[in-house]
Amino acid sequence: MSEAIDYRNLHSAGAISITGVSKSFGKLKALDDVSLELEPGSVTVILGPSGSGKSTLLRAINHLERVDEGYIQIDGDYIGYQRRGDKLYELKEQAILRQRINVGYVFQNFNLFPHLTVLDNLIEAPIAHRQLSRREAIDRAGELLDVVGLRHKADAWPRHLSGGQQQRIAIARALMLNPRVMLFDEPTSALDPELVGEVLDVIKKLARSGTTLVIVTHEVGFAREVADNVVFMVDGRIVEQGSSHQVLNQPRHERTKRFLARVL
Ligand code: ADP
Ligand code: MG
Repeated sequence: MSEAIDYRNLHSAGAISITGVSKSFGKLKALDDVSLELEPGSVTVILGPSGSGKSTLLRAINHLERVDEGYIQIDGDYIGYQRRGDKLYELKEQAILRQRINVGYVFQNFNLFPHLTVLDNLIEAPIAHRQLSRREAIDRAGELLDVVGLRHKADAWPRHLSGGQQQRIAIARALMLNPRVMLFDEPTSALDPELVGEVLDVIKKLARSGTTLVIVTHEVGFAREVADNVVFMVDGRIVEQGSSHQVLNQPRHERTKRFLARVL
């Protein structure tokens, strides 16, 4: 992977402030009064058993999911709802905000467009939404393919790449619009074990670049090495949060202790 690029310039960090966010699906409370403050440029790992609300929280931050109550602020731009008395107020026009807040999202299953080459996967959305000219998009795609070490695959089809390479392309694609925040939802859990490292290496590089990162993963070793904060969720609630050292080495909550004993 190229180390020559000053990828710090590719990003600007965002502060995330989550206040009293709740979200139900029918009777099921997927998020139950979640509050969290993340500093610009910080790296946060979210741990928790399956079904504890981790993906729902990421989707709420990216506004893929409307919350029922509470609000989420990214660099001062509010999304969500605020209760005053017995009324809920929608805080801002959602679609506009979503574009402005500009959060990059990387899924477990890569989600590359199969009918587009690697380069076209990167440049399609920024051009279609008139956020970059074709020339700008191609230049930026080249820089980002260097960052993830895959410039030589610019003209390849996704199906000809390994899972690890596809995920690195998905990360580059998410970076095209200089997101202030990058969200990763179990980015390595669909990969063969020998391909996990190359994807985590790209995320580590981003961590050093100063972008605010929120990563759902079961890779506790990675969390130990890279995360500033670790958040542990159960049943839609944050049961424990703190520095990665504190949560991983001296967990206070019984559920955290049991979870860590299982995954380590
Ligand atoms: P995690 O990512 O921690 O595994 P999720 O955030 O995906 O958990 O889900 C939290 C809970 O909400 C689960 O019980 C899940 O079944 C439920 N859930 C998530 N999305 C939906 C949905 N669109 N419709 C109904 N239930 C959902
Ligand atoms: Mg999930």
